Amino acid sequence: MKIGFIGLGNMGSHMARNLAAAGHDVTGYDMSPVRVPGVPLANTAADAAEGAEVVITMLPNGEILRQVSEQIQPAMKAGACHLDCSTVDVDSARAVAESASDRGLLAMDAPVSGGTGGADAGTLTFMAGGPEEAFALVSPLFEIMGQKAVHCGGAGNGQAAKICNNMILGVTMIATCEAFALADQLGLDRQAMFDVVSTSSGYSWSMNAYCPAPGVGPKSPADNDYTPGFAAALMLKDLRLSQLAAQSSGAETPMGSAAEALYSRFVEEEGGGDKDFSAMLPRFSRLNGA
Ligand code: NAD
Repeated sequence: MKIGFIGLGNMGSHMARNLAAAGHDVTGYDMSPVRVPGVPLANTAADAAEGAEVVITMLPNGEILRQVSEQIQPAMKAGACHLDCSTVDVDSARAVAESASDRGLLAMDAPVSGGTGGADAGTLTFMAGGPEEAFALVSPLFEIMGQKAVHCGGAGNGQAAKICNNMILGVTMIATCEAFALADQLGLDRQAMFDVVSTSSGYSWSMNAYCPAPGVGPKSPADNDYTPGFAAALMLKDLRLSQLAAQSSGAETPMGSAAEALYSRFVEEEGGGDKDFSAMLPRFSRLNGA
């Protein structure tokens, strides 16, 4: 398949490399100088998009996605698919899909989970929103870049699934961290706390798979001085997207709102942005005077 790939950063570079390694004809573009094995670069985003059957974007945010879409969509051939894998706001995803449809193009939003490790290994999970025809066209590409793709419905529903998932993640991580810090104050051993909660009704992915306490549970960023993993700044970005979506759709999300406020303080006032998002635990310990 002839593919254009715009946005060859931490995630996109791996995804484009895996597509090229699987035999696809991939042309890339990034506004910064980059080199990706097997992926020749075009001079502009429009050049990378021209003649491609699928154009993939992997960009920082919705505003940039909207700008880049205005560059690439007019250059795309009729019936081609704009596959956006960035994490952006639902409204931008739907606007970009609508402009694609007006131009006789297919569009699909398909944000990912799995991080740079998953992008490198080709084991991402894709949450896809858009027409069945687009899902069928890009499914073979999902199989190369990932291990699972869920078709969540129409345009924007991939982004909706991603931000709902990450809102739960942010809230459960905070709850797990504050509970560990409370346990410390009460003189409860962290290992005992893990052994109980990980097999009781307080268990979650945050506790069982990504335990925020160093030396307890499976290996996690906590065991590497909270080097991300998934940076607190990225969690804040996703929580903001969930609160934006809650506002624009009229949904009540008090826990998501509290999580956003807490990560905002941690990232923007306390210098925690480049720490893993599980570094909420040492933050609570510090505040508790432990
Ligand atoms: P990144 O900043 O490393 O990459 C983004 C790339 O886009 C950069 O190389 C940048 O130069 C390029 N870019 C920016 N503006 C551009 C423009 N106008 N034209 C062309 N290129 C442009 O970010 P990333 O970590 O690769 O993340 C990309 C997306 O994936 C984000 O939406 C992020 O939220 C999401 N995501 C990231 C992770 C992760 O662990 N890094 C995990 C899941 C989802």
